Amino acid sequence: MEGSYNSAPFKGVCLSVVIPVFNEEEVIGECVRRVSAILNREEIDHEILIVNDGSTDETLTRCLALRSLGHKIRVIDLGKNYGHMQALRSGLEASEGNFIATLDADLQDPPEYMPEMLRHLIISERSESNEDNQVEWDVVQAYRLDRSSDSFSKRKLATIYYWIISRLTGIKVIPHAADFRIMSRQVVDELKKLAEPKLVYRLLIPSLGFRIKEFPITRSRRFAGNTSYTTRKMIGLALESVVSFTYRPLRIMSLLGLVISFILFLAAVCVFIISIVSSTVPGWGSIVLLMLSVNSMLFAAIGLLGEYVGRIYEMSLSRPRPRWNEK
Ligand code: UDP
Ligand code: MG
Repeated sequence: MEGSYNSAPFKGVCLSVVIPVFNEEEVIGECVRRVSAILNREEIDHEILIVNDGSTDETLTRCLALRSLGHKIRVIDLGKNYGHMQALRSGLEASEGNFIATLDADLQDPPEYMPEMLRHLIISERSESNEDNQVEWDVVQAYRLDRSSDSFSKRKLATIYYWIISRLTGIKVIPHAADFRIMSRQVVDELKKLAEPKLVYRLLIPSLGFRIKEFPITRSRRFAGNTSYTTRKMIGLALESVVSFTYRPLRIMSLLGLVISFILFLAAVCVFIISIVSSTVPGWGSIVLLMLSVNSMLFAAIGLLGEYVGRIYEMSLSRPRPRWNEK
């Protein structure tokens, strides 16, 4: 069996490589050339799925032109800029391979790692009775050993992001995980079932209990062009990462509401006692008492409301039930 592994390690494999692009006219040609070169060299059957996320430069024209150069390319055009995660989602939906890679276009994550990553997903001990590729891992997830190619502020923001997310959501997040991964078809089919409008794959995949092989990579500099992840997009992603995985912030607000309500109630009791035992300005006691008790009730209502909204939120997430194995 060892012999057949060495002679045809990727037999029966079709790899879909999903590449989201937004204004990558300077990069996309080189990216496709490098992806094709490595996959052809290793004799890996593949399709390169470029998802044009509403580019306003010549990206789309260049992608279409690349088809005439003999690359196995499919181009999906989203028509407007929906953002990186949505572009990935469309690519996953359109993919047809039995293994699916996601890769940024800018070549920061070198595509030359793909054959090695794919090998981890395939156990090629093809016995006579079982011709199928057996998958040992569900996902091979690249993470960056070294982020020196990113700016200082981006590195710091990334560290804070991963810290906050793992504390708030409790998900075992792989720090500095790139959106460079290879997944089995089963994983992608599960991801496609999710009906939520926005998906943050780097958190979603570990949270769904897939077996993830962490794969260290050294990140390069951007081949050309500039990052399209503006501060606004990064804040949006961070916010999405929190609100789509936990209602803990809402729960903190609910608890705060209940605590404030209790404090106001105690204050109301004190005011009531003061207005009885000492002589205050006429009307003061009743006005303050009214204010405090109404506010106390309002805060209590907000706290309870938060808890109910949290339950509805949890139900609205169409997450699959936990995966289990009988031992
Ligand atoms: N991207 C996208 N839509 C966007 C922003 C980015 O499809 O609105 C793509 C981009 O073309 C690239 C990938 O997402 O292929 C990662 O973007 P970028 O390299 O700018 O992010 P960074 O590496 O700086 O975090
Ligand atoms: Mg990049």
